[in-house]
Amino acid sequence: MTKQLCISGEWVDGHGGTLPVINPATAEIIDQLTVASAADVDAAVAAAREALDRPDWAGLLPAQRAGLLFRLADLISEHGDELAELETRDQGQPLGFSRQLSVGGAAEHFRYYAGWVTKIQGTTNPISFPDTLNYTRREPIGVNALITPWNAPLMILAWKLAPALATGNTVVIKPSEVTSLTSLRLVELAHQAGIPAGVVNIVTGGPEVGEALTRHPDVDHVSYTGSTKGGRAITHASADTNLKRLTLELGGKAPSIIARDADIDAAVAGNLQGGVINSGQVCAAYTRFYVDASREQEFVTKLAAGADSLVLGDGMQATTQLGPLVSAKHRDYVAAMVAKGQAEGAQLVAGGRPGEGDGYFFRPTVFAGVRDDMAIMREEIFGPVLAVTSYRDDDELAGLLARANDSEYGLAATVWTRDLAAAHRISNGLRAGAVFVNMLPIPDMAAPWGGYKASGWGREMGPWAIDAYTETKSVWMHYGD
Ligand code: NAD
Repeated sequence: MTKQLCISGEWVDGHGGTLPVINPATAEIIDQLTVASAADVDAAVAAAREALDRPDWAGLLPAQRAGLLFRLADLISEHGDELAELETRDQGQPLGFSRQLSVGGAAEHFRYYAGWVTKIQGTTNPISFPDTLNYTRREPIGVNALITPWNAPLMILAWKLAPALATGNTVVIKPSEVTSLTSLRLVELAHQAGIPAGVVNIVTGGPEVGEALTRHPDVDHVSYTGSTKGGRAITHASADTNLKRLTLELGGKAPSIIARDADIDAAVAGNLQGGVINSGQVCAAYTRFYVDASREQEFVTKLAAGADSLVLGDGMQATTQLGPLVSAKHRDYVAAMVAKGQAEGAQLVAGGRPGEGDGYFFRPTVFAGVRDDMAIMREEIFGPVLAVTSYRDDDELAGLLARANDSEYGLAATVWTRDLAAAHRISNGLRAGAVFVNMLPIPDMAAPWGGYKASGWGREMGPWAIDAYTETKSVWMHYGD
């Protein structure tokens, strides 16, 4: 049966046609989505607006709202196996990844923000006015459009939905047209948890549905995760309409610095996993490697051997270490970028070709001898393609940092060294929203997530997401004569 939209608690067909849902591991059609029309988007926004001030949502006491989020977290955990299998069939990620990171991470995110509901505070402020009290209130922004990408759909939706609900907002979700299934299921669970009708709405379809939301005059805030190109379009849409607030989590091209004193085996293992995690379809994945020249050969040889040893397959199989890319279109793009790398003279030392089977598999690929001006070093590939170059330890640190920072992106970066002073100096000098020293690029809900430069605006997670979903009202109260 075709999956429907959810508007004001009712599941309804969209008026914009249908889209197939394809399992990327088998290239088979496994389901069908309905596509929202502009009128459907209007209806979803109107439902969210109507629910915003309704007593069954706005009138809930903080402890009651927290209770709903705890209940939703429990439902996600109770349906963990089902959600993980759905995510793997729809997105391709190995079941271990979907079970622990996607589903486990989503449940923990709801628990974390359930805890926040009763701890969101205003301030009293030392103004220099006689007989006057000034205090702040944190109020919901209003109607939020939550627009998500296809690489980790359930997890990234949780990053947005949990703080949005914790702060009393209402939402219209627009998942990626490539991977909508777990988002639709989450909306069912949200209603089962007791979240009132109209608070959580979902419309499916492609960029045109996202655009109808970002251009809508009654949407107050767009929280978007996706490509930098999409982020640019959304800033125009906001500027052209009601200047709605934006939280943008965009592309990345994370540099990795491997110092002379690094534990090379740990660096190879960590950079390989950090580079090809979810088949490289991770915005913070490690992609361009600056290795101390004295360790370059050893690093390249071991990285290539590690890449060659990885087992590709259907994420549903226990032996699979790397699943397929999400779509035929994306597999073709990754293959084209690899061909560009070869044409520009980089040395292919592992992979570089599709994997076996009908699915959209691509072998993990390692290039050596890469120059800083090559496309594989500059453009986001969002696939399992690792580009290695070197630096000389006697280069000025500033020179190394300038090369690592020479990117339009600034989402994540990593450093591999046993020298604490070097780790601090390099971390301080990297222009990135997150720097991981001797570890994988895995987020946690208590730490901020977001990018410098064209990697985005604002931060998600922790108290930063509370800021993103609230307005601060300043109340002035004169009590003198
Ligand atoms: P995308 O930009 O193609 O699409 C993302 C979502 O936005 C989809 O739901 C899509 O339908 C919608 N959309 C696209 N154009 C739009 C427009 N003009 N107006 C409104 N909505 C629009 O991105 P994708 O290909 O699904 O995801 C991959 C990208 O996401 C990569 O660039 C990756 O780096 C980025 N990403 C960033 C983070 C982060 O935290 N910074 C996390 C994951 C993915």
